[in-house]
Amino acid sequence: VLTIDFIAEEHRMSDNTRSHWAWGHASRFPDPEARQNLAEQVSALLRFPALQIEDPCPPEQLRLHAPRSRAPASLAAIASTDPLDRARHTYGRGYPDLRRGFEGDFGPAPDLVLYPRDEAEVERCLAEAAQADVALVPYGGGTSVVGGVECDGRGYAGVWCLDMGRMNRLLQLDEVDRCARFEAGVTGPHLEEQLRPHGLTLRHYPQSFEFSTLGGWIATRAGGHYSTIYTHIDDLVQSIEAIAPSGRWSARRFPASGAGPDPNRLLLGSEGRLGVITSAWMRLRVRPERRASVCLSFEDWEEATASVRAIAQSGLHPTTCRLLDRREAMLHGVSMDGDHVLLLGFEGSTTAVDVCLREAVLRCSGFAYKSGPHFGDGAQSSGPAGTWREAFMAAPYLYSSLVSMGLVVDTFETACTWSALPALHERVVAATRAALRERCGQGLVSCRFTHVYPDGPAVYYTFIGPGRPGEQLQQWRAVKEAATRALQEAGGTITHHHAVGRLHRSAYEAERPDAFAAALEAARQSLDPQGILNPGALLPSPRGG
Ligand SMILES: Cc1cc2nc3c(=O)[nH]c(=O)nc-3n(C[C@H](O)[C@H](O)[C@H](O)COP(=O)(O)OP(=O)(O)OC[C@H]3O[C@@H](n4cnc5c(N)ncnc54)[C@H](O)[C@@H]3O)c2cc1C
Repeated sequence: VLTIDFIAEEHRMSDNTRSHWAWGHASRFPDPEARQNLAEQVSALLRFPALQIEDPCPPEQLRLHAPRSRAPASLAAIASTDPLDRARHTYGRGYPDLRRGFEGDFGPAPDLVLYPRDEAEVERCLAEAAQADVALVPYGGGTSVVGGVECDGRGYAGVWCLDMGRMNRLLQLDEVDRCARFEAGVTGPHLEEQLRPHGLTLRHYPQSFEFSTLGGWIATRAGGHYSTIYTHIDDLVQSIEAIAPSGRWSARRFPASGAGPDPNRLLLGSEGRLGVITSAWMRLRVRPERRASVCLSFEDWEEATASVRAIAQSGLHPTTCRLLDRREAMLHGVSMDGDHVLLLGFEGSTTAVDVCLREAVLRCSGFAYKSGPHFGDGAQSSGPAGTWREAFMAAPYLYSSLVSMGLVVDTFETACTWSALPALHERVVAATRAALRERCGQGLVSCRFTHVYPDGPAVYYTFIGPGRPGEQLQQWRAVKEAATRALQEAGGTITHHHAVGRLHRSAYEAERPDAFAAALEAARQSLDPQGILNPGALLPSPRGG
């Protein structure tokens, strides 16, 4: 298992301590000694040549252009042109973002960052951006891995970033309907903190939970880490409020409605193109009281996937049904013996979860018990499940360190039907490995199922290869393109939960119906006739690019 000592340390600092390039707070980026230790572990584990540790470009040497436009007087109180602020808001946190940030390249930096405190200020930002003819990029936590917040502003008088972070309050709580209305800039921990006194929870835990926001989750159709039901933000949203250049948008609250296409669904996945999401009513749950878990190991991948399919089609709905291939299990320290591992868990309010766990295990074949079954409170925090959980939460910090040792490392994900899975998996792994061999000399591809459905799994791949100094971005692009091509040709979607952004746009264009694309573009034109909102994300920019 790859470890950095101080990852578990609890930090609660103000947001301005966030790194301008890495995941999380600047102070949590490991010092050279810790990274040297990690580099030695990586070389030994993956049989890579010795890795050279480098230091990131210091904040005072970042390369970014002078602002092209200034804040109008009406926005001066909420605007910043501070270079570090602009740098922090330039990129998301995908591999090319981390790499360019590490090297100090902030070419596409916004000209200024706006921090609205309420809806009236959001409206003013939209009006002033239209007046100045600049692109306006809604920004939540900046954790996009698909170029969702990186805008070059081609054809516009500049780029303004609209950071929603100050709009982070619980506005209304309806305990009868068990729903709450939050402002869109609230991060995962702050949202849960505001619900805790009421004994309620949203229980939406993407891996980026620490910094991503409610508005970002809705705009990207985020997936939480539960493997079945109640994991997509789509299902947790009751109604959304947004402001578009053409006016306000406030959907009514219904538990369900069959009245035509759902207005909330148009904003879900709109990636900042159709309006600024300002608040949303969310469906809540009581905290679970009972947990049950087990860890099974399989020598044979086909037997493991068949077992997972049987569970997914059983109607049992485990909260955790995460299948790790042998490389993924090794990378996360869950198992070093070469077996594939299935982490299976249930949670709920009664001991019925114990019965469900036993029933789910009965659906499996060709396995051995690795750990458990465990019942009760610690069921998902002890043994391999606990090891997995810690590694999962530490992974974003780990990636930044891997970038600093010159590695080319990224993840990509898809969903496909069970019938398409065997051919897709074989083709994607072969294509990604071949590209790693060709461009990096060697490399590792690992795989896990993040979510499972009766008709197919969401499959998540990690690749990692040695980089050549100064060439890492080209190496990464070649591997990513090979993987994307293989996914598309084998019948997988370009994304199960990472969204489209700018990185996946052409692949998205290839998988959606043309008539739908035209209807979506018409909606965009109606809501944002001047085309100032996040041009180029999800849909082409009306001014090219
Ligand atoms: C380490 C890591 C782990 C991740 N794990 C997961 C995961 O488990 N599940 C998952 O689904 N994703 C994951 N992601 C991707 C990312 O965290 C999600 O896409 C997340 O929903 C983005 O939220 P954000 O607040 O950071 O949005 P941002 O990155 O700031 O923005 C993303 C997009 O949403 C738009 N947007 C943001 N806020 C608003 C708003 N208020 N109104 C309108 N548009 C808005 C932006 O314009 C942009 O197009 C991960 C990313 C990283 C780096």
